[in-house]
Amino acid sequence: VSAPLDELRAKLTPGAVLEPADGLERYERSVLFDRRGQAAFAVRPKTVDDVRSVVRWAVRHRVRLVAQGANSGLVDAGLPDASGEMGVLSLELCRERLDIDPLDRTVTASAGWDLDGVNDRLAAHGLRVPVDVGSNPLIGGMISTNTGGTNVVRYGDVRRLTRGVQVVVADEDATVLDLLAAVRKNNAGLDLKQLFIGAAGTLGIVTAATMDVAVLPRQRAVAWVGVSGDRGAFALLQVLERRAGELLTSFEMMSGRMLQLRARHKPDLRQPFPLDAIPPLALLIELSSTIDPASGLDVAQLLAEIIGAHAADGTVIDAVFGPPEQMWAMRHGIDETAAEGYQFWVDVCFARSAIADFRARFDELLDARYPGWEFIDLGHYGDGGLHAAGMYPFRLGREPPPEEVEALRGEVYELVSELGGSFSAEHGIGPSNAAYYHAYTPTDVQRLSGRLKAVFDPHGILGVTRFGTAAPG
Ligand SMILES: Cc1cc2nc3c(=O)[nH]c(=O)nc-3n(C[C@H](O)[C@H](O)[C@H](O)COP(=O)(O)OP(=O)(O)OC[C@H]3O[C@@H](n4cnc5c(N)ncnc54)[C@H](O)[C@@H]3O)c2cc1C
Repeated sequence: VSAPLDELRAKLTPGAVLEPADGLERYERSVLFDRRGQAAFAVRPKTVDDVRSVVRWAVRHRVRLVAQGANSGLVDAGLPDASGEMGVLSLELCRERLDIDPLDRTVTASAGWDLDGVNDRLAAHGLRVPVDVGSNPLIGGMISTNTGGTNVVRYGDVRRLTRGVQVVVADEDATVLDLLAAVRKNNAGLDLKQLFIGAAGTLGIVTAATMDVAVLPRQRAVAWVGVSGDRGAFALLQVLERRAGELLTSFEMMSGRMLQLRARHKPDLRQPFPLDAIPPLALLIELSSTIDPASGLDVAQLLAEIIGAHAADGTVIDAVFGPPEQMWAMRHGIDETAAEGYQFWVDVCFARSAIADFRARFDELLDARYPGWEFIDLGHYGDGGLHAAGMYPFRLGREPPPEEVEALRGEVYELVSELGGSFSAEHGIGPSNAAYYHAYTPTDVQRLSGRLKAVFDPHGILGVTRFGTAAPG
């Protein structure tokens, strides 16, 4: 790639193009798991025009590019492959725009703005992007993965919050599709922006987005609630939806096993339950409101009342209220589970009514056919999302062979399919789960997805994920 790289360098600001000798490691490694690719170069455009220059150049020379944001994605879709021939198009310096419209309650931000940075600026206006995740993704990455998080039950996912996007597609001219929209309703033709949300950077490079933002709450109440099992958890969820309605901001689940793991590895955190009385299932529930408590609506009182009523009927075993930051600290950052054993995680979603069945059958599968393996999980119960893992403890002194892990993973995904669930609830599709996309996505959907790919990226230069079966070109 060395000759054309000089041509690219000449079009951009000095320092925009990095080569292996400059150290590309941070563009080649995912932040959470130690997975790697190998890049020929990394390029860091600052403006939409720069992005166009890069894409035009890449199309001309048929150089494959992978877009990258904060590299916090969990399916390796933002990493270059192992060929050493791809370029990483990092959007981290693309921050030319950040426009806040307090009247319309929107923010329009360039792809390189990070979520925390946007929220810091919005806070001055009493606003925030209502997406809560344990990472700090960039706006372009959020659009491209359709980020979920712990507030989906109230605000929806990124798709629901996105009014418009601006995208550079990979035709000869690197056309800019300006689909940024100020309006709340727009039925003037096909809504192309939807195609780019959750597309893993395969159809175009997102350069900016307009998102709906929410008013910062004036009051929040957060509680950890121990229950005996799924039946009680979902009964409580229904009551909360009936009695607290739109105040219900989060309804998260952490299994007792997961809480025990956390307690062992994060003893410094405030533990919600006595260590000798950790419940089988714990819920982290948040109610919040923009209404001043002086008006008579007190969300803490309401939450306490609802939980109290269920303590009386035996659904709730234990409950603890506390400052939101302390309560949430136990939920965010679950990476210490890696200290206990080999594990593989699935990011799945079900109709709420199917979750209990999935959990029980996953656990039974391990007991019956995979000796030594343990089931651990936590989930976004409000929206039906579950992060579940099979873990093989280090203390057993054996590394499970890859065939065993793959066989187990295959059986778990088969179960997801049987129960009508999604095998990728919020992390999207990338090399780490693409095989299942091809196995479980109807062939007609794959075929037509391939046709769409050929429209926006006719030479097949964008992304590492392959949606569709049609050959590009
Ligand atoms: C501790 C931790 C907790 C997390 N919790 C959650 C959670 O609760 N919910 C959730 O949904 N996710 C979660 N994630 C996953 C991750 O943070 C999200 O997927 C995030 O939205 C990815 O954004 P990013 O900027 O890091 O993108 P990257 O990882 O850099 O890229 C992700 C994908 O988007 C593409 N892409 C990036 N930028 C662009 C662009 N400008 N144009 C086109 N394509 C682009 C990449 O090619 C890749 O396919 C978590 C991750 C971590 C590490």
